[in-house]
Amino acid sequence: MSDCLFCKIASGDIPATIVYEDQDMVAFKDIAPKAPVHILLVPREHIESLEQAQPKHSELLARLMLKTADVAQQQGLEQGYRLITNSGPGGGQEVPHLHLHILGDVRSKDYKG
Ligand code: 5GP
Ligand code: ZN
Repeated sequence: MSDCLFCKIASGDIPATIVYEDQDMVAFKDIAPKAPVHILLVPREHIESLEQAQPKHSELLARLMLKTADVAQQQGLEQGYRLITNSGPGGGQEVPHLHLHILGDVRSKDYKG
């Protein structure tokens, strides 16, 4: 979608600190981290939210979920991580392109979530 922030980050039109990418997804650092490690993992396909996802997206969603573990490991999160997705305005979603928040070191004093 042409007017979507995360589509533009995924296509490289808006810069971000990308930590992983492949043909289906892109992971980048959150611009306003809520934890010492805060990565956003998004599909390249514009899906508005988890609520808008369709059965045809099942495999893509599974791959996104599984990739979070690789990204967390690459970020040094040996102790584990927190995974959040906000769906729709009632869920606090601000950017209407499906994304998974990977949060690490949430017991740190720096974590405000
Ligand atoms: P939401 O509230 O939609 O679940 O989360 C959106 C996230 O995107 C927030 O954590 C926010 O800090 C992050 N964000 C918003 N704009 C940008 C941006 O331009 N670049 C990056 N890297 N992150 C952004
Ligand atoms: Zn989008």
